[in-house]
Amino acid sequence: MLMQSRAKARGFKPIFLMTPSSPASGLILIVDDTPANLHVLSDSLGAQGYDVAIATSGERALKQIGRNPPDLILLDIMMPQMDGFEVCQRLKNSTETAKIPVIFMTALNDVQSKVRCFALGGVDYITKPFQEQEVLARIHTHLKLSRLTRHLEAEVAQQVVSLEEARQLAESANLAKTHFLANTSHELRTPLGIMLGVTNNFQEGIYGEVSERQEKALKMLENQGLQLLNIINDILDVSRLELAQLRLSFAPTAIATLCQDCLTSLRPQAEQKQLTLSLNLTETIPLLQLDETRVRQILMNLLSNAVKFTPAGGQVSLTVTSQNRGDDQRWLCFKVQDTGIGIAPDHIPQLFQPFYQVDSSLSRQYEGTGLGLTLIKRLTELHGGQVSVSSELGQGSTFTILLPYNKSVSPPDAQTVD
Ligand code: ADP
Repeated sequence: MLMQSRAKARGFKPIFLMTPSSPASGLILIVDDTPANLHVLSDSLGAQGYDVAIATSGERALKQIGRNPPDLILLDIMMPQMDGFEVCQRLKNSTETAKIPVIFMTALNDVQSKVRCFALGGVDYITKPFQEQEVLARIHTHLKLSRLTRHLEAEVAQQVVSLEEARQLAESANLAKTHFLANTSHELRTPLGIMLGVTNNFQEGIYGEVSERQEKALKMLENQGLQLLNIINDILDVSRLELAQLRLSFAPTAIATLCQDCLTSLRPQAEQKQLTLSLNLTETIPLLQLDETRVRQILMNLLSNAVKFTPAGGQVSLTVTSQNRGDDQRWLCFKVQDTGIGIAPDHIPQLFQPFYQVDSSLSRQYEGTGLGLTLIKRLTELHGGQVSVSSELGQGSTFTILLPYNKSVSPPDAQTVD
């Protein structure tokens, strides 16, 4: 029953003055089986500007709340049939009514009853006989808190929606970028391949004799073309890894031969810088199921970084071991160690992000795209492995790759998408 309070109708002088900026508003439901209590309270609430509804039993209260949910409930505990505890429990069990603040009003004054009220989800507890001013002050405070909470919840919900929209937008933009990179780098490879082929034909004298000067120019063309091809291939690989289009092609792989090949390829560069390049491989490692091309790519990237970032006269080594790491899995461990410039600790966390370079200035000393370590990490993880780095500025770096040690017993189970 919604009751326009008699006090309001009579222009009763408010007992508790609200601040002028926040006139009392809202629907208060009083649940009490003692009519005298209901009248006194509804008069004072009405005088404040509240709408007041009353219910004289728990059952009636629940029905009324279902029809017209109030902003706050003043709930007596001791009522015949359904007591205030049960009413509160039912309200809190329903998502529609759980958030309505409930203030218990009772003659029960023991600690257990008070604690039970709060445990059931009540926001406050007033003992009878009550002081009107105190009741009004508490109602005012709890209404304010409940409105503030609802307002904050709505704002948070809105923020969550906005964040989700922004995330989806960023994700689709990123996907579009990845597709663009994959498509353009694929298209760039064909003309570049032809240009390198023609350069090669010139070098081999297919189009006529080549002078020494022309040979030098052709060598330069070839070097720059190959460098560009490497960059395009890295971009294509990173894009395909992002699009989950790159699959490994497992085959029995001879580790020692693979490592020696990598070192042989890098020896000219190392010698140019008077670097000592060494392989430490004392164990006999059986043929392992790996994607040889991709493991070669991992090692070549790590070793060429080590050579690039180590000043003349330094040392670069590749150490290969197999190890148990406290789990059932045996691991193949590659360690690429250098005595180079090292990496400051604050750069380490971003190191494997695409395009990240410690020195990203245009005037940087070392060439590169910042894609090598991204590829190393993703290719390692695609093998079910892990990559880690330890480094000291000015002293050198160690990159460690762990790959599952799967002996070659089964045939290849996946194909490389090219
Ligand atoms: P790139 O070498 O093409 O710049 P990478 O992804 O391979 O890209 O490496 C990212 C950055 O990590 C490098 O630019 C360099 O700053 C740092 N880095 C990688 N390896 C080493 C190393 N062995 N010693 C010092 N810095 C390194």
